[in-house]
Amino acid sequence: MSSLKDKVAIVTGASRGIGRSIAERLAQEGAAVVVNYCKSADKAQEVVRGIEEKGGHALAIQADVSKVSDIRRLFQQIMGHYERIDIVVANAGMFNPKSVVDTTEEEFDAMVALNTKSVFFTLQEAGRHITDGGRIIYISTSATASSYPGSAVYKGTKAAGEHFITTLAHELGPRQVTVNTVSPGFTETDMLPKDEALRETGRQMSPLRRLGQPIDIAHVVAFLASEEGGWITGDNIQASGGIT
Ligand code: NAP
Repeated sequence: MSSLKDKVAIVTGASRGIGRSIAERLAQEGAAVVVNYCKSADKAQEVVRGIEEKGGHALAIQADVSKVSDIRRLFQQIMGHYERIDIVVANAGMFNPKSVVDTTEEEFDAMVALNTKSVFFTLQEAGRHITDGGRIIYISTSATASSYPGSAVYKGTKAAGEHFITTLAHELGPRQVTVNTVSPGFTETDMLPKDEALRETGRQMSPLRRLGQPIDIAHVVAFLASEEGGWITGDNIQASGGIT
């Protein structure tokens, strides 16, 4: 794969889990990476240090991306520091497993704010600032293509982003910007419930009989971000170990 040297990437929610692995993988390919976080300042700094120790470039920026004003400040800070943005990964999200009948208005609003509203306005800022030929990648979930109890609000709030992506691909395509969704399956992060029975179900649902690791998702994102990924746009890549 050709290098991402001289490219600037932003990954939302990159202090932990899948976002962290994506940030590290893009840095490994040579991109300067903005590590966005909300609360975990120490962990974000640890990601930056790890990248720098390997000779890469990274910058941690706090922003609560469920707030539009924070998203706009985040992009202004990146433009102020690097004067360009080439790769945007809208990764931050949350999963609160609750049945329909048990979900409160506050829980519903919190999932909408982080899983839907933050994605829309991150994509809006991406569209406004991204370099021609850039790459926009949204991290959804394979759950939007399946069904299980306790996932209604999660699936509904994540699925909206997939529709934002297919439309944005048409709107930015004339500038040679590609816009895609990557949909992980069960992936071993803090978000995945500790419940061993659920984890075993996840392993058995994959033909590969294991849970996904954050790096499994990061490899796919790195390919889409590369020059070689340039003919894929408006698509939803299932990075789920074969779960459907
Ligand atoms: P995670 O381990 O819980 O990490 C979440 C990340 O998002 C953290 O870096 C956290 O930063 C950040 N974050 C949370 N709220 C934020 C906010 N308001 N503003 C900015 N950043 C915020 O989650 P993950 O498993 O890596 O999930 C990443 C994405 O993959 C999500 O969109 C999720 O829906 C999707 N996904 C995950 C799985 C899975 O099995 N893990 C499966 C399918 C899809 P702080 O620590 O600073 O709050």
